[in-house]
Amino acid sequence: MTNRLWHERADALKIDGRAFIDGKRTWAVSGQFFDDHSPVDGRHLAQVARCDSADVELAVRAARTAFDDARWAGQAPAARKRVLIKFADLVVQHGEELALLETLDMGKPIKYSQSVDVNATANCLRWYGEAIDKIYDEIAPTASDSLALITREPVGVVAAIVPWNYPMIMAAWKIAPALAAGNSVILKPSEKSPLTALRLAELALEAGIPAGVFNVLPGFGQEAGAALALHMDVDCIGFTGSTRTGKQIMQMAGQSNLKRAWTELGGKSANIVCADCPDLDAAVEAAIGSIYFNQGESCNAPSRLFVEASIKEQFLAKALALIPAFQPGDPLDENTVMGAIVDVIQLKSVLGYIEAGKAEGAKLLSGGKQVQLETGGYYVTPTLFDEVDSSMKIAREEIFGPVLAVLSFTDINDAIRQANDSPFGLQAAIWTSDLSRAIKTARALRAGTVHVNQYDGDDITVPFGGYKQSGNGRDKSLHAFDKYTDLKTTWIHIS
Ligand code: NAD
Repeated sequence: MTNRLWHERADALKIDGRAFIDGKRTWAVSGQFFDDHSPVDGRHLAQVARCDSADVELAVRAARTAFDDARWAGQAPAARKRVLIKFADLVVQHGEELALLETLDMGKPIKYSQSVDVNATANCLRWYGEAIDKIYDEIAPTASDSLALITREPVGVVAAIVPWNYPMIMAAWKIAPALAAGNSVILKPSEKSPLTALRLAELALEAGIPAGVFNVLPGFGQEAGAALALHMDVDCIGFTGSTRTGKQIMQMAGQSNLKRAWTELGGKSANIVCADCPDLDAAVEAAIGSIYFNQGESCNAPSRLFVEASIKEQFLAKALALIPAFQPGDPLDENTVMGAIVDVIQLKSVLGYIEAGKAEGAKLLSGGKQVQLETGGYYVTPTLFDEVDSSMKIAREEIFGPVLAVLSFTDINDAIRQANDSPFGLQAAIWTSDLSRAIKTARALRAGTVHVNQYDGDDITVPFGGYKQSGNGRDKSLHAFDKYTDLKTTWIHIS
């Protein structure tokens, strides 16, 4: 579609910002709403229901009733599979509309909203649908006078609280395994990007997910989010967001009913490039492409780049040659690869980190500026700092913007020590031709995922999650079912 057509479609959009509870669109009980603006150009997108504890109460009641009467959990896995696959098909059918909503709501390029976000969301729903009727329970090898069954049961009412950087994908990573396993779900999207979640709820109902089984409550973290985390009748929280909020979620779980709290949190991933890297061009492309993808707003962005001193100059020359291709552009233009920062709060935070980098003595080699102010949107140039020291703020804290910190090393053990010297442990990478070094380094790096000679490995079949303060539990893969099911042991005496 042309740039002009996307703009025309954007202008013609009619957006419904009401919550989705018990199969129906509804305003918040309080009547409150908030205004959702686009970071693309500042346009007003919608008034969105500002849900709080009263709406949480209604949604939890609906979800609990639906769970208890087994309208969904009681269906055969093959039946739930058919519905989830239809849900996936509907996401594909409505792909252009969903992509447009995603781009307008959070600023990512339309090219990626379609090719990445819509496709990954549909694929995730389809994959868990396909998986659920192929999983067997267990019988324990006990003595012959008994039979011990080990079965998986849905936990009950699951609250999924998700961030704004991949609104649909983060939601799908929670709702697909939770729904496939038979739970009722209440999704709380970020207040910065609530629109696709609300549309997904309508598509879920159309696909055949019964009313009450999947509810969506837009609203603020301190209101709707905290009310879910504190609720005595929510059995499980699947949370993705910042480490700061993750800690609060775990506290609220402990303070209330000790609900299971699974957290996928922030990152400051280390990317280590050795002088014997087998393909320097590939390493440069991965380093640059991965940090600027999604405007740098990716939890697993390789934001700390450690380059062996002897090749640093060569590496930086290649990197600087690639950077112009990532200048931010109109997110509704299909040629744009970097879009807008999600909102003014995030924009100020990113610019604040850039100032901190300069003040602490890092060398700004590229970017560092807000541009395209005339659009009314929030755009930052791809930024690269050299001569970064591990003690600097830009090397320690998650920036969540298009800012790369380059450090150097002469001894791989020192690089590993620095890479591990972080509260985070989401991902890491090592580039080397030496197989033993690759394996030893991968073992030594404290991260949930370690890449060797690549950074873009990504598949629904593999677990995604962190060590340390990057969280617990895993999204994606069959392991996600561990979060949304309980194991039951049934001992049967054989006389
Ligand atoms: P955030 O923690 O501010 O918000 C995440 C969600 O939590 C939102 O829906 C928000 O409304 C809600 N929330 C905020 N305060 C709350 C509270 N007190 N109680 C309950 N809910 C509350 O994070 P964000 O800015 O939306 O997202 C960015 C963060 O998410 C980054 O740190 C990023 O690394 C992380 N992230 C992690 C992964 C992963 O898989 N590890 C994936 C994507 C994003």
